[in-house]
Amino acid sequence: MNLSTTKRLVYMKKFPLHFQIILTSILGVIVGVACNQWGGEASGFFLLLVELNQFIGDVFLRALRFVAVPIVFFSLVAGVGSLQDTRKLGRIASRSIGIYLLTTAVAISIGVILANVLKPGSYVPVELQAEFINTGKLIAMEKMNQAQSPNAWATLLNIIPKNPFSALASGNMLQIVFFSLMVGMGLSGIAEEKAKPVLGFFEAMTEVIITIVHWIMKIAPIAVFSLLAKVTADLGFEVLQALLAYSLVVLGGLGILLFIVYPFLAWRFAGLSIKKLFSAISPAQLLAFSSSSSSATMPVTLDCVENRLKIDKDVSRFVIPLGATINMDGTALYQGVAAIFIAQVYGIELDVSQQLTIIFTATLASIGTAGVPGVGLIMLVVVLQSIGLSTEQMSGGLAIIFGVDRLLDMSRTVINVTGDCTVAAIVSSWEKKGVLSE
Ligand code: ASP
Repeated sequence: MNLSTTKRLVYMKKFPLHFQIILTSILGVIVGVACNQWGGEASGFFLLLVELNQFIGDVFLRALRFVAVPIVFFSLVAGVGSLQDTRKLGRIASRSIGIYLLTTAVAISIGVILANVLKPGSYVPVELQAEFINTGKLIAMEKMNQAQSPNAWATLLNIIPKNPFSALASGNMLQIVFFSLMVGMGLSGIAEEKAKPVLGFFEAMTEVIITIVHWIMKIAPIAVFSLLAKVTADLGFEVLQALLAYSLVVLGGLGILLFIVYPFLAWRFAGLSIKKLFSAISPAQLLAFSSSSSSATMPVTLDCVENRLKIDKDVSRFVIPLGATINMDGTALYQGVAAIFIAQVYGIELDVSQQLTIIFTATLASIGTAGVPGVGLIMLVVVLQSIGLSTEQMSGGLAIIFGVDRLLDMSRTVINVTGDCTVAAIVSSWEKKGVLSE
């Protein structure tokens, strides 16, 4: 080993990836705030900086999207195709979907309770309400037009692709998971000598894509800096002040999930300490925060749970892509708080049955929320409709909360990703394989 390799290894040990990302995240926020404060009147320098950050961030997110479909397809076919015990798949599927639904219901309930007790809707000055509604009216109408009520039957039916190749081409994750499961199960059902070369191909391709993910992760510290600098440069700090109570209730609820609920579940059912859980998945969490997208983060989430948390690959390759598509605990909690907040702003008293309706519809709406930035706000419309708000109240409500949505989106995406990792660790532990024990 020559001297420079030794130096590099010492450096990597001293500054592991998550420390590098934490450091560049802080720097990104500092530079973003500077651009936010002085960017307006300042020279082209700040504007150039913002544009450059946007470019670097976009390159990174594109690279991650580029590996998302192949990684799910190749790894799931390889995983299911080599399963000896076919009942295992049914067990993993039913357990993960069950815990996903349960944690989502717990998340909204926390949001609903906090919003009822702390009443954030009573802290918004009336004159500011009118101002926000005026400035955000157009955007709110646009969001309302994009919202589509989730129809449970249509959603279930839509899991089966009419054409699996167009599902792969358009990146429809649930359909891709379904197609991969079918091909994998078909492979384990045919003669071994025929299946072997095909399986070998899928296994090798999985390793190829994981190698590409590792290359992409090398630029993660720089990309996270750029993403955060860009977002904070655009953030409206004055709006944040006016909506402080609302933002704090959402952030407080998300904090309960992050620091109490998930660590408890991971410790109780997977024997993982909070330190171990967080240090393993922190690159995915930080990336979720800076990108606001659980789908874009998914390849990194998968890498973290497999290589750092060392959980069973048969579990992670099914549970993580599924979770990135349907499990959105942070979004669900946020939708619960936001719906009650908007009702409070308009002086609407919600009775128990309306509150239960919020819990039910926000569960469905969060399942129907795609893991990309800002969709949680669009799906909130469905929740608002379910409690009978008028069009004017809905658009007014969205216009009021729109200004702080990006910050809350970043935060709820961290929770969405952490929830996926926790459930994967629990299901893996129940399968009695790959659990971390110290
Ligand atoms: N941005 C979130 C995610 O990707 C979804 C949302 O709540 O808007 O997980």
